[in-house]
Amino acid sequence: MKILMVGEYRDGKPLGTCAELIEFASRLGGEAAMFLVGSKDSLPNLSGTLYLADSTSVGEFNPDGHKKLLLDVIAKEQPQMVVFPHSSYGWDLAPRIALALKAAQVSEVVDVTEKALIVPCCNSKLRRQVKVKTAMTVVTLQAGAFTPQSQVSATPQVIELPGAEPGTINFNGYEAAAAGGVDLSKAKVIVSAGRGIGKPENLSMIDALAKALKGEYAASRPVVDAEWTEHSRQVGTTGQTVAPKLYIACGISGAIQHLAGIKKAEFVIAINTDKDAPIGEVADVLAVADLKQLVPLLTQRIAGG
Ligand SMILES: Cc1cc2nc3c(=O)[nH]c(=O)nc-3n(C[C@H](O)[C@H](O)[C@H](O)COP(=O)(O)OP(=O)(O)OC[C@H]3O[C@@H](n4cnc5c(N)ncnc54)[C@H](O)[C@@H]3O)c2cc1C
Repeated sequence: MKILMVGEYRDGKPLGTCAELIEFASRLGGEAAMFLVGSKDSLPNLSGTLYLADSTSVGEFNPDGHKKLLLDVIAKEQPQMVVFPHSSYGWDLAPRIALALKAAQVSEVVDVTEKALIVPCCNSKLRRQVKVKTAMTVVTLQAGAFTPQSQVSATPQVIELPGAEPGTINFNGYEAAAAGGVDLSKAKVIVSAGRGIGKPENLSMIDALAKALKGEYAASRPVVDAEWTEHSRQVGTTGQTVAPKLYIACGISGAIQHLAGIKKAEFVIAINTDKDAPIGEVADVLAVADLKQLVPLLTQRIAGG
């Protein structure tokens, strides 16, 4: 299979998602090249061809310009698959390319087999196998789903691309998210509440356990979306990435978007009534129990009661 990866570049360097694209391509095997609007001064760790446009002339975000350059590369490479990260860059550009090529688009892929792309459905409770019938497929990859175990250092063969015409969209730069809320990145212990807590009143037992362990409490996205707690406590791809010594996931199923945020946790304990919950695959300890019973007992024991 011939694959064209579309790398991402920000503030002078390729983003980590480039390595995830490379990992995905290597799992499929075959030939893979990359398209990147970036700089010769900071190349991705890639063995193979890199089609490189200069971001200072093309612009880091210029959908019309990037689309035109990318379509030219696609015409030359004739890949069967064009792969983007599922990021604001990818989900903007991928549909433009799919529409222009009348190709199938498969979004938020979390796994791949020889025969099918795997995407979550039913709020990540099920996984769907997708087989595509068009000659070319445009794919976006869910963040964290294809993180490589290790990386071999490599230098690509660069093919420089020309500049691009200014597009209809003016890019004014990035704006940092406003500081504030809770900084979970420094917490040594995090006790996290998922939808399994059932109701907002039960957050207090999660907070009590976190306090007994001198840590912070956090939450999965449904808990934040329901406005049971503030967004700064959300862990995952659209929340914070955390690296505690101990992470206790209470009533959290283990969706890929949540797991992406706890990859650096040293020890994970999951409390879940479902012995087959996906969090069990990554947790060091899975306690099959009702959190409403176990969490207060743990708090009492830790507090010396
Ligand atoms: C683009 C995108 C970005 C996303 N970003 C994030 C993100 O940043 N962070 C995030 O968390 N999610 C994110 N999500 C949502 C994600 O896909 C999942 O839907 C979400 O993580 C599920 O949260 P949960 O595990 O709390 O709930 P559920 O999946 O509903 O799981 C609840 C769990 O609680 C267990 N349970 C129920 N009752 C009890 C009990 N009494 N005791 C113990 N266990 C119990 C159940 O067995 C189940 O495993 C994102 C989704 C998308 C599409």
